[in-house]
Amino acid sequence: MTIRFENGIIITLGKNNQVLWNSTVVTDGENVAAVGGFSEMREYYPDAEVVDCSGKVILPGFICTHHHFYSTMARGMAPPGEPASNFVEILERLWWKLDMALSEEDVALSAQIPLIESIRNGTTTIIDHHASPSCRDGSLDLIEDAVREAGLRASLCYEVSDRNMPGAGIAENERFIKKVGKGDGQIAAMMGLHASFTVSDETVEKCVGIAADAGVGCHIHVAEDKADKHDSGSKYGKFVVDRLHDLGVTGEKSIFVHCVHVDEYEIDILADTNTIVVHNPESNMNNAVGVTKLFDLLEKGVLVGLGTDGMSSDMLSQMRVAYLLHRLDQRDPRVAFVEAPQLLLQNNAEIAERQFSLPLGEIAPGRPADLAILDYHPPTPLSADNFLGHLIFGMVDATVDTTVCRGKILMKNKQILTIDEESIAARSRELAPKMWGRL
Ligand SMILES: [Zn+2]
Repeated sequence: MTIRFENGIIITLGKNNQVLWNSTVVTDGENVAAVGGFSEMREYYPDAEVVDCSGKVILPGFICTHHHFYSTMARGMAPPGEPASNFVEILERLWWKLDMALSEEDVALSAQIPLIESIRNGTTTIIDHHASPSCRDGSLDLIEDAVREAGLRASLCYEVSDRNMPGAGIAENERFIKKVGKGDGQIAAMMGLHASFTVSDETVEKCVGIAADAGVGCHIHVAEDKADKHDSGSKYGKFVVDRLHDLGVTGEKSIFVHCVHVDEYEIDILADTNTIVVHNPESNMNNAVGVTKLFDLLEKGVLVGLGTDGMSSDMLSQMRVAYLLHRLDQRDPRVAFVEAPQLLLQNNAEIAERQFSLPLGEIAPGRPADLAILDYHPPTPLSADNFLGHLIFGMVDATVDTTVCRGKILMKNKQILTIDEESIAARSRELAPKMWGRL
């Protein structure tokens, strides 16, 4: 099907970002066919379906490079016992109880809700990290089904950890990686591991072997809290990145999430091995674990992306939190204006390309037709030169009107077309209290 998304302000992004007023994106099947002036595209593609984009900006769909769909049902839950006073207690009292209590239907619903929220926020590609020990085998298939139904793209993995049973989750990853193979552009697979402090050398070696054979990367939390750093130091006499590097986890397809407590030596290893780091500022602030040394990582050439760590599916708000956090942290109002958008718009696209082998993140002929179309009347002139100011202070609060992924319209006029939001939320409200009761 050919569709003209016409008469909007197109922000192409990519290496040569252009801001094109009164312009049209034409999609044909899963890709962009043409980008051009309103009348010109009408003339060239007269028979196309039309979506009026006047009063709107058209951006490439946003990418989230670290998410946890399974955390959905924690919303509004009161964890039993005293409030957690540190990161390890947060895991023990909340997340490790919650993931254990998830049933098969909970897993599916927990994916559907953030997928709906992703569509609502124009997030079209997600790299997820899943855990559900009581419903482990086949869990990635349940999430895959939800992603395909929603119409988005996702890279999936299961969080391997020895915390309940040595090597738990390896088989689920291996099965899913084999099933997905090289991927079809919509679903990709990674080897998931929880974190250094919950996996033995033997478990990591098994994971790395499977990932290497399949040519996929590992997706693991790294030095999120100082507890991970201390564990690695006391058990192995190494820093976390050092330990994981010696075990073969580093590499250009591997994602090291957080890297809050890494030192210069570890940053050098990340840079030398071209390992991906994903920064999750809202989560770090929520768990009070510290501030990632973003500028040190970027200065050394590490590819740093932006994730939500399950906090939300809204990438523009996550970008602005990164912008604000690092200004405050550095006590310097000159920093992060370029870097925070760079993580979201350029670096996340490069990270997604390493997982999906697709040139996402730019509106241009031949590129995947993933679009986020926002209601936005610029109150001041908008051009490629001042786009970042509009992004950080204006578009961040704009409402997404239309979301397109793989050339398919998933939401139009704020109506989600692929999933029944109301019935899914109602069912989730029914099941969540039952899950809470099992904690
Ligand atoms: Zn995480």
